[in-house]
Amino acid sequence: MYPNTQLNIGGTWRDGAGGRSIPVLNPATGEVAGHVAHAEKADLDAALAAAQKGFAALRKLSAFDRYKLLRKAADIIRSRVDEIAANMVIEQGKPLLEAKGETALAGDIMDWFAEEARRTYGRIVPPRAEGVYQLVVKEPVGPVAAFTPWNFPINQAVRKVSAALAAGCSVILKGPEETPASCAALIQCYIDAGFPEGSVGLVYGVPAEISEYLIPHPIIRKITFTGSTPVGKHLAMLAGLHMKRATMELGGHAPAIVFEDADVDVAVKVLGTNKLRNAGQVCVSPTRMLVHEKVYDQFVDGMTKLMAGTKVGNGMDKDTRMGPLANGRRVEAMDMFVADAVSKGAKLQTGGKRIGNVGNFYEPTLLTDVPLDARIMNEEPFGPIAPVVPFKDFDAVVAEANRLPFGLAAYAYTKSAKTAAAIGSAFESGMVSINHHGLALPEVPFGGVKDSGYGSEGGSEAIEAYLNTKFISQIGL
Ligand code: NAD
Repeated sequence: MYPNTQLNIGGTWRDGAGGRSIPVLNPATGEVAGHVAHAEKADLDAALAAAQKGFAALRKLSAFDRYKLLRKAADIIRSRVDEIAANMVIEQGKPLLEAKGETALAGDIMDWFAEEARRTYGRIVPPRAEGVYQLVVKEPVGPVAAFTPWNFPINQAVRKVSAALAAGCSVILKGPEETPASCAALIQCYIDAGFPEGSVGLVYGVPAEISEYLIPHPIIRKITFTGSTPVGKHLAMLAGLHMKRATMELGGHAPAIVFEDADVDVAVKVLGTNKLRNAGQVCVSPTRMLVHEKVYDQFVDGMTKLMAGTKVGNGMDKDTRMGPLANGRRVEAMDMFVADAVSKGAKLQTGGKRIGNVGNFYEPTLLTDVPLDARIMNEEPFGPIAPVVPFKDFDAVVAEANRLPFGLAAYAYTKSAKTAAAIGSAFESGMVSINHHGLALPEVPFGGVKDSGYGSEGGSEAIEAYLNTKFISQIGL
């Protein structure tokens, strides 16, 4: 049964001080699945006090102890995949297989950061005078305020919380109100692994009220946010005003280039499947399909068939390949993107409308002849819509790929090693994947440039964001 979700403060689950709660809707049925507790200022004060205590306790643990606790949390979440994933489908809508994959990957992410805890090396710098020792040491930055969204309720949170704990920082996580139960189940894994009281707190409520209270608060030393670019810019401004370090993982509008020598069938299959993964609500989703004019018709035919043949349904049904959109706002946004593009001359190849009138189901949608001023060509769709645009030459397609202020993910398909190398270096993007979809493993960097944010949530770069560098120079007396 889908659970109600409480706040977690100092390791204890409890309702908000005001007793208020927020309904959680099942996006496949529109019905209320449960409720999530709503934090008041008093709850945030309690969470801050707990995080301060938790930080003091974590600092006393060795890196090896933190490694062991994270490894244990990884084993625990692996043992709970089925139960957590089923609740994720109810609150978020994605197919069960995707929910299981996301939950299982959390174990790998915890393992990665467990190992990283043991590699927070400093260094010794050769001195200019005899007897001087110059040490560079890494220290945890302090209590962290983390903000995560509803598209990957576990994946977005596990990267931030595990990196913070690995570095020795306590965390207050403001989880996604729309998908609270799977995120709470993740936090339970850290608690059950035995992290000291106050290491991880979990709050829900009004996002703006919580971020505006936590970010300036003197106990908080670091901010990390995943979500839209406008909200990220606002939170980055607040962080800057209060001289807090920040990691910003924001929106994208990934170009996907198919050159004339590409294996078009592979490009259609990989780009199409990844476009529809999580109903397109993925920050690295391939969005602008830029296809060489010589293979354009073949690509459009193949992609139309793939999209029209994708089974949309309740994420709990075995044959469902794409679930509903996570909330009603996305359905409205899809209708707006389609109407806007068509009014400006785009052609609807397939899809373009809501399915039924129960839940947030939307047809996989392919648009061709889309003019550059259509909103879909400029704003992150965050849904199952792809525009396809033909191109003639390398320089023109690079200019289009880099035209937008976003720079998160970029994709290309070509059989030429020379073209692959050239496009890999030409993309203004934090991540590039060529001839396959190879992003987001725990051990590789994950992050954007330009309006897509800064900092990395994967690879050996990720833990750095939670560490200060201290220099100590000493001389024996
Ligand atoms: P939104 O921009 O209001 O919210 C995005 C996320 O930010 C949510 O999790 C929300 O709780 C949080 N948020 C909003 N205002 C906040 C604040 N002042 N302080 C702290 N957190 C705040 O809108 P939305 O309708 O949820 O999503 C719209 C767009 O956001 C999407 O179209 C997509 O572009 C982007 N988004 C990106 C990601 C990602 O993985 N990068 C995830 C979710 C949404």
